[in-house]
Amino acid sequence: MSEPRDPNAAMTRPIPAPVVNVETQAFWDAAKEGRFLIKRCVDCQKAHWYPRAICPFCASSETVWEESPGEGVIYTYSVMHRSPTGPYAIGYVTLDEGPAVLTNFVDVAPNGLAIGMKVRVKFQPTEGGPPAPVFAPA
Ligand SMILES: [Zn+2]
Repeated sequence: MSEPRDPNAAMTRPIPAPVVNVETQAFWDAAKEGRFLIKRCVDCQKAHWYPRAICPFCASSETVWEESPGEGVIYTYSVMHRSPTGPYAIGYVTLDEGPAVLTNFVDVAPNGLAIGMKVRVKFQPTEGGPPAPVFAPA
């Protein structure tokens, strides 16, 4: 028998090292400085996530990096209660700039999340790679 877990304990989750490539190098370099970057298209002006060289809306190759405050609201989420490292939650955050980001939620108990809740990005160390963006209640 294991000890029952405190249901009000804040969730954390080990995150494997992200895969860094030429398209995302600038993102991970900024992440090491605690800055959250998104991409915006020069032609159609829409912001997108995840970062890509080609705009997913109009296929333009004129995309630029933009620093974001990393603020948004929870669009949807799911809590995994059965995990060897304890409960964790993943879901989508709709950034104030528009794009939806698939992410992990931290610094909150499993029953503390709600659709529409305001959240803000923070960076969490990964297993041997650059820090990864996660979201916590704002
Ligand atoms: Zn575009």
